[in-house]
Amino acid sequence: MDSVQRVLHSGWYILGEEVKRFESDFADYCGTKYCLGVANGLEGLELIIKGYDIGPGDEVIVPSNTYIASILSISANGATPILVEPDIKTYNIDPYKIEEKITPMTKAILVVHLYGQVCNMDPIREIADKYNLKIIEDCAQSHGAIYGNLKAGNLGDAAAFSFYPGKNLGALGDAGAITTNDEQLFQKLAALRNYGSHKKYENIYKGYNSRLDEIQAPILAEKLKYLDEDNQLRRDIALYYLNNISNKEIILPYVEEKLESHVWHVFAIRTPNRDHFIEYMSKREIQTMIHYPIPPHKQKAYEEWNQLSFPISEKIHSEIVSLPISPVMNMEAVNQVVGAVNEYESH
Ligand SMILES: *Cc1c(COP(=O)(O)O)cnc(C)c1O
Repeated sequence: MDSVQRVLHSGWYILGEEVKRFESDFADYCGTKYCLGVANGLEGLELIIKGYDIGPGDEVIVPSNTYIASILSISANGATPILVEPDIKTYNIDPYKIEEKITPMTKAILVVHLYGQVCNMDPIREIADKYNLKIIEDCAQSHGAIYGNLKAGNLGDAAAFSFYPGKNLGALGDAGAITTNDEQLFQKLAALRNYGSHKKYENIYKGYNSRLDEIQAPILAEKLKYLDEDNQLRRDIALYYLNNISNKEIILPYVEEKLESHVWHVFAIRTPNRDHFIEYMSKREIQTMIHYPIPPHKQKAYEEWNQLSFPISEKIHSEIVSLPISPVMNMEAVNQVVGAVNEYESH
């Protein structure tokens, strides 16, 4: 690829022109003032939390059914994740269950636009304003999703994106970014991702090494040009599923806002006899996945929560299953899925 050649010939492999160019392109795309390339999505979240000085003794609200990385980013800073149940229809954090979990220790709400659908942000913003909390967005699954007229990544104080290869915008390896309009945070994070240093060998913070790779940057810049198109292809497939799958044993996903609010990283359905459904689909040569099989509070890594009960998350985790969806899927494959799901019987 030309861009990779360009990096090779430049002789500049860390935080060079290519990273700068992508940061500028991605900030423009998201509509934010600033973007910083980082090593991956998890460290993006971790850096934001660190950048806001949230640590031991502080609490951060997070959905109880998210991918584990959202929660790990809080734990990594020594802060306490406070799990809040999702809405059973959207699978996103239930804004009306947040307020009862707020204490004097609460510092932020970490919203996750799960499966590609933006959270119901208006009531969340109201609560954040009322209690003076930061809103941190986990945009690892929602590149390009729109709420009102703003993009994911521009709906809170700061956001982290993952460009893991399987995401809606994916690199050819690990990569991530932070977007924000908060200049102070931006300046601090620019140092924190680079050993806590703005100037070589002068360290003002106890920082990290979490930088976006110079070779991944131009690959991302090129793919960013096709992100909206790819998201529309995903949306077309999702709408086709929504309009053509009809089986009373299958609960289809629910889009809360306008169509642009969902970029369909995952097309998650629910069915009570999930294992049976997966086996049936695999006999029809259709691969399904589970996002995710074990709720965070039941993970060994969070043994201290194993006795807690989050019934909505537990129900979701026991019934959820993802149908194939991707910008490169053809109509024949889509129709095969529809046919198989419509003919499914659990007994
Ligand atoms: C993928 C993902 C992450 C982590 O991103 P990495 O780049 O793999 O570190 C965080 N949160 C969610 C919701 C994700 O899907």
